[in-house]
Amino acid sequence: PHPAENPQHTEKQEHTVTTANTFPAATILGYPRLGPNRELKRAVESHWAGTLDEDGLESVAATLQDATVARLEQLGLNRADSSIPADFALYDQVLDATAALGALPARFADLAVEDGAVDLAGYFTLARGDGQRPPLELTKWFDTNYHYLVPEIGPDTPLRAVAHRLAGIVRRHRAAGSTLRPVLVGPITYLLLAKPEDGAPEGFDPLSRIDDAVAAYQGILAQLAAAGAEWVQLDEPALATDRGAALIAPGGVAERVYLELANAPVVSANDAGTPAAAGTRPALLVTTGYGTAGSLQAPGEALQTLASTGIEAVHADLVRGRRPLAPALAAIAKTGVRFVAGVVNARNIWRNDLSASLDALESLRADLRAGDPTAELVAATATSLLHVPHDVAAETDLPAHLPEWLAFADQKVAEVSVLARGLADRAGVAAELSAAAEAISRRERFAGTTQQAVRTRTAALAPADFSRSAAEVRSAAQEKALALPLLPTTTIGSFPQTGEVRKARAAAAAGKSTPEAYESFLKEEITRVVRLQEDLGLDVLVHGEAERNDMVQYFAENFDGFAETRNGWVQSYGSRATRPSILWGDVSRPKAFTVPWITFAQSLTEKPLKGMLTGPVTILAWSFVRDDQPLGETANQVALALRDEIADLEAAGIGIVQVDEPALRELLPLRAGDQPAYLDWSVASFRLATSGAADGTQIHTHLCYSEFGEVISAIDGLDADVTSIEAARSRLEVVADIAGFGFGRGIGPGVYDIHSPRVPSAAEIDGLIGTALASIPARQLWINPDCGLKTRGYAETTESLRNLVAAARTAREAL
Ligand code: GLN
Ligand code: ZN
Repeated sequence: PHPAENPQHTEKQEHTVTTANTFPAATILGYPRLGPNRELKRAVESHWAGTLDEDGLESVAATLQDATVARLEQLGLNRADSSIPADFALYDQVLDATAALGALPARFADLAVEDGAVDLAGYFTLARGDGQRPPLELTKWFDTNYHYLVPEIGPDTPLRAVAHRLAGIVRRHRAAGSTLRPVLVGPITYLLLAKPEDGAPEGFDPLSRIDDAVAAYQGILAQLAAAGAEWVQLDEPALATDRGAALIAPGGVAERVYLELANAPVVSANDAGTPAAAGTRPALLVTTGYGTAGSLQAPGEALQTLASTGIEAVHADLVRGRRPLAPALAAIAKTGVRFVAGVVNARNIWRNDLSASLDALESLRADLRAGDPTAELVAATATSLLHVPHDVAAETDLPAHLPEWLAFADQKVAEVSVLARGLADRAGVAAELSAAAEAISRRERFAGTTQQAVRTRTAALAPADFSRSAAEVRSAAQEKALALPLLPTTTIGSFPQTGEVRKARAAAAAGKSTPEAYESFLKEEITRVVRLQEDLGLDVLVHGEAERNDMVQYFAENFDGFAETRNGWVQSYGSRATRPSILWGDVSRPKAFTVPWITFAQSLTEKPLKGMLTGPVTILAWSFVRDDQPLGETANQVALALRDEIADLEAAGIGIVQVDEPALRELLPLRAGDQPAYLDWSVASFRLATSGAADGTQIHTHLCYSEFGEVISAIDGLDADVTSIEAARSRLEVVADIAGFGFGRGIGPGVYDIHSPRVPSAAEIDGLIGTALASIPARQLWINPDCGLKTRGYAETTESLRNLVAAARTAREAL
């Protein structure tokens, strides 16, 4: 039988670390991959465009890796002791695991070369599709704005040990004198992130392939040992989700998996040059980021379970996760397993309070030493640094007070290494501790953070500020004010952002065109977009959002309390990066900023023009947000700034305002138990932003996802008059949820999938409208695309919207 089915192999043994592979005192779980100047982004995109061949791309990637290793060494890590992670995905770390496993679903089976591996061309085909086939699906990585490629696993999807690329990277660095620590998504997380392959039997669970995955990972570990890896990092963030937490309960699947993986003898360290003995494995570090691994009632129990399996080191997220209890720490120390303490926040950009972190580390060490008086621990980041930009020093335009408050990836690496030195000799890092303490105290005392007027307003908020009149009263007033037909048609806000629009905006931002020239350019663009919508016969028009590069940054630029970075890029997916703004102080809106564009657009048409704003939760989700007060407090400040803008739109005669909240679900906590508190403040902030509107003003919201079910009552709680959501891909499956819930106000399930250039026919859209009308009353139904049109071209957009309007008319006549 397979070893995992053989009970002898899963018996717990008294475990002691048997090798000289001691884990270094400081480490990070991962580092930004695109390069300080987005070198990898450019190289990968040139490769796709055919202007850089494979060797050229590999050489840029290798040069960047070498620069990263050198930089990390400069910042205090050591290239020889496995403290530097080999975390060098060209596109995505989950795709790297798919490649290392040769886990090709049948629809991509032809990409397999030789022993079932994928080559570079195949790797990018999985990521980008190839004309005949769509790529692997992209989806959010835990509660972040990073997106990974979803593995497709069925009963027969191959799971092999073909980690050639990763092994090659390890070998190349080893030859150059660097012993790096390869990083792989662990088997539990890999299968929990997967979806069933097309054609898998109904109800198939990818986790049912765990024994095959374990066998494959055993092979991969042997390959990495042979390449010269002394340690391997297996990331198991899924253990911080409700489902993963159940799997890591004592005696559960996760324990069995790691008993198996730890079962092989460990390759001994310091034998550079001599090939690892067959069947040996590197020492294993298992990481758990993004929250508390396992039980929330018994924090640390999951780590104790992992430590008991025979692995060599276990990591905990001490920023988002709960502190392990003392008995668990003592038990971990007894096994000899090294505890890696994720005390440096790798998801936000504030400078670490090093004294407080060192106190926390010393207290953890004291608890470990109750189990083993010689126990040491490792200072580390809570997750990969993938979520933060490279270097504060690259920022030349920040307000003067800000830089010393901040720590980007490079500063965080230095923090980790100071903490490690401080654990050995606190007095030896006194200067670093006091520098951090002084900067933090200047931040705390900085007068500009607090705006008294904002404080006075938030302090005076009363329940009435969070609610509008009854929905029926509003809809009667709006019917009178707007006189819309049944099944009104509209779009979600943006129109195609042509090269010309992007060029004009960039020129204006760089000061290469005059404000007057830019304004008249935008007015022409708005005029074109309004005329087009009138021609098409849409009922509620938009101005098209040509002035916005990004739906959050535009608001950050126009609010007080935010700063913009020049080079603060963070990978969003593949070669794409975003530049989040920094929300550092009290937020307010000095003057109306969307009003001029919206009122200009309204002046061109008799049709109602819909004002367009981004909601408070999305603004928070896609920025780096101050950590010195509860998020709900900050959200209310943003909400009041938006409320002011809505009041000005109303005063200027705008009768419809849309407030987008595409990130409402993104920030949803991973654990069900934490969700109600989040939904309380997030829903409240939306209501605060919108509740100043008169009864006759119609408030819309837009949500960018179709997984409506789990948050439907929160969406209902937003109390928007009209809600548009993504629905076309799933052929309007969501209408069942909507009807089942008894959602009572306006609803616009997207009937045109804007994620592809494909033009839906009028008949097809009419079919979808029919599906919607089967469960939603006509007076509630709106007809609109899935999302904004900014990534589309004009040709397909015009044709698709023409079909959408025609379909709505046909449906109206048939009512
Ligand atoms: N109003 C925005 C647009 O149309 C909404 C984008 C989004 O939901 N991500 O572009
Ligand atoms: Zn959207």
